[in-house]
Amino acid sequence: MNDSLRKFKYDSEIAFNEEHWQKMNYNTGCYEKRFANSRNNYRNVELERERAFLLRNKSLLNMEKLLVDFETRFKDNGGQVLWACDADDALQMIWDIIGKRSNNSVSRSNSVVLDEIGIDDYLKGKGVQVYDSSIGRYILKVAGKEPYHPVYPALNLSKEEIGQVLNKQFKLKADSTTKQLVNFVRHQVNQDLPKTQICITGANYLLADMGGVVLSENEGNIVKSCASANIHIVVAGIDKVISSVEDLSILIPLTSAHATGSGMTSVNSITMGPSGDDGRMYVILLNNGRTDILENEVIRQSLSCTHCGACVSVCPIYKNIGGYAYGTPYIGPIGTVMTPLMYDLEEYSHLASLCSLCGRCTEVCPVKIPIEDLMIENRRIVAEERVGDTRYDSLVKTLIGHCKSRKKMDCPQWLKKVEVKQLVNKNNFTKRMMPELAPKSFNQMSKTEN
Ligand code: SF4
Repeated sequence: MNDSLRKFKYDSEIAFNEEHWQKMNYNTGCYEKRFANSRNNYRNVELERERAFLLRNKSLLNMEKLLVDFETRFKDNGGQVLWACDADDALQMIWDIIGKRSNNSVSRSNSVVLDEIGIDDYLKGKGVQVYDSSIGRYILKVAGKEPYHPVYPALNLSKEEIGQVLNKQFKLKADSTTKQLVNFVRHQVNQDLPKTQICITGANYLLADMGGVVLSENEGNIVKSCASANIHIVVAGIDKVISSVEDLSILIPLTSAHATGSGMTSVNSITMGPSGDDGRMYVILLNNGRTDILENEVIRQSLSCTHCGACVSVCPIYKNIGGYAYGTPYIGPIGTVMTPLMYDLEEYSHLASLCSLCGRCTEVCPVKIPIEDLMIENRRIVAEERVGDTRYDSLVKTLIGHCKSRKKMDCPQWLKKVEVKQLVNKNNFTKRMMPELAPKSFNQMSKTEN
């Protein structure tokens, strides 16, 4: 058993924790209500999703040209573009930029790509202070926890737990209201942001026609941190490039509705390059396995993901096992699809079977990614490559062998029970309850009735 599977087994035990289940059910239930209302803002939401699907797919197919266009225009605007093959490359580039500065602190936004490259641990190891510009992430850092959801990083914490964390650290009243808690954290974040001259963010989109970087947020802290810093470093996956600023009129409202159930993200900005005389702006274009994903015609569609988190919020598996079991920052259905190809197929092959194929993720995806089809493709790849845990293959083979043999099928029911129990134990289904076998087999019943 590899380390990722071991971690998965350990973290997914939380599925048997009643309190966790209630919290997840409540928080995701609130999201589902807002989401259902937000769809009423559209006369024909399906048509809008179809348009978004076409726009994102067009961008993926023309990615090579669009990236070059973006680079040319962003450089014309005074910015610099760096190309990173993998996470190590990107981190080295960031260090080359900030290592020379005397002020060894940075602010960072809530961005899954920054978690993908492991920026917090890297900078901490270099002695750099990292300030979070997101309220949710600030709370998590104080609590010593990792993000649980791409959009709601502190989804696993109740209001009472957040109150306790802030009470312990800052002596804030334990019975503070939600508004008091949010105001307190907002104040803390706003105090930290001006302390640094360097901000590091992800990007929602890169505009090939203008050389602009699109940033969407609800708290306004990314804009504040960029405004107070004179160096802005953007880390963006190469999949973030889109053809034109006009595409945003479809993509931003649709993604907002699916991410948080709001009509529109509160703050949307397009940064065209460095500001002021001494300002610098860098965009690091990160590959990190994305070109490998592009090669597979089916899985390729996962790169049109906007990371809105809608599929995560509605996934019954995620609600049970939580955000840590996935083992990478890519959580939920889309993480299940991307992780084995982006990280390591053998190491993460167990994720391919982490789906009941209920199809809820596909229904809510704003860009109409057929996530179930991608899951099935992942299973095909894992089976074809024969990687991961092959014990289930032998279980299925044994069962097929039993079903094909009339002698075995006619053996007494008590013997079948013993055999099934042995098989179950041997294959480690320790938490599964096997249904009771009927007192008589179908064959026996048909003979008696005739
Ligand atoms: S796959 Fe679709 S629903 Fe899931 S995070 Fe990406 S865009 Fe959102």
